[in-house]
Amino acid sequence: MHDKSAVLVMNAGSSSLKFALFAGTDNVSIGRGSITGIGTQAKFAASGTGFDGKAFPEITNANCKSPSEGAKILLDWLDKVLPEVKLLGVGHRVVHGGDLAKPAIVRPYILAYLRTLSPLAPLHQPFNVDIIEYIQQERPSVLQVACFDTSFHTTIPAIHTRFALPRIWHEKGVRRYGFHGLSYEFIARRLKDIAPKAYEGKTVVAHLGNGSSLCALENGKSFYTTMGFSVLDGLIMGTRCGTLDPGVLLYFMREAKLDEASIERMLYHDSGLRGISGISNDMAVLLNSDSPNAREALDMFCLRAVREIGSALSMMGGMDALVFTAGIGENAAPIRAQILNALAWLGVSYDMELNANLPHGVETLISRPESKVDVWVIPTNEELVISTHTRDSLTASH
Ligand code: ADP
Repeated sequence: MHDKSAVLVMNAGSSSLKFALFAGTDNVSIGRGSITGIGTQAKFAASGTGFDGKAFPEITNANCKSPSEGAKILLDWLDKVLPEVKLLGVGHRVVHGGDLAKPAIVRPYILAYLRTLSPLAPLHQPFNVDIIEYIQQERPSVLQVACFDTSFHTTIPAIHTRFALPRIWHEKGVRRYGFHGLSYEFIARRLKDIAPKAYEGKTVVAHLGNGSSLCALENGKSFYTTMGFSVLDGLIMGTRCGTLDPGVLLYFMREAKLDEASIERMLYHDSGLRGISGISNDMAVLLNSDSPNAREALDMFCLRAVREIGSALSMMGGMDALVFTAGIGENAAPIRAQILNALAWLGVSYDMELNANLPHGVETLISRPESKVDVWVIPTNEELVISTHTRDSLTASH
């Protein structure tokens, strides 16, 4: 390592902290890891050229009661095992940036603003903000940059952000924001390099992971996305329901007498692939199951994706390219096949052999030359986007 500067990327959840370290001005990943099971059975794992052979920190339920405490353990550990590294700063994945169209160096007024957004993403935002505040208190010299899942979507035309509700609610922030923006930003950047025509044209990106959404890109900018006010909207996900008739919620409250916490748990944690299959939220498990309920979960997952691709392309007036990314999009060949087969009427044709035997982690064009739509599989890299933004923001501020 010639340049000893590094950026640490953190992605905090309710019971986990994922991290990655990027070194040098060329921003190369030298290690990644996670602290999982926080609050139940905390466990540290890390690998990569910078971390291999280093003893992991002692981690217990007593010294790591929250992702914030995990962050302190991680920073102390990095000081110890990589003393030669000069930490430029920490870049955070933050789910909600409200009106912020760009990453922000965390100053007190930014932190205060991010707290005001917690009611908009109550299951994610408080953990993202807590960890930033904790580092600020414990390590005031560490610079921090917040990168938002919403920012990429600030280009969406106003008509796509409005609900058909009384106007006053839009003014109060009840509107569609969109998420997974760091992933879409990465894909848009890659398209610019590897498929400039798709970048300049109309592309639908399917980010299919445990959380899933689609983004319609026009000229590399977000035009429409399926997640809206919350991360519940749109596609069927691992444990989330996706688009749901709001009358169902009224029924749950009035007739089934479910309280807010029960409804929230059902919509976020017990629905989606898990709820339909009754088996698992894990796509790999469902693909290996011969249960009819698992089959139905897969069919519903694909059908919803097809429905939403259709709605995105009809709003854009066409689709030059379709991109699959994230855990399912990159790895679940039968799911890609099922979605693509349903789009054959559009003139989509793809190489079945190639789709079924994709090299892992490689950007691949899987459509046939005669296909009316180019179909790509592009591995996403949200951490790289965060580390680049963090380095750029901190360098610009000096
Ligand atoms: P997250 O939203 O948590 O970042 P990921 O993008 O890591 O999620 O995607 C996780 C999903 O990807 C899981 O449903 C997992 O089963 C699926 N997945 C990962 N590898 C494979 C595979 N080889 N075959 C099928 N599904 C896979």
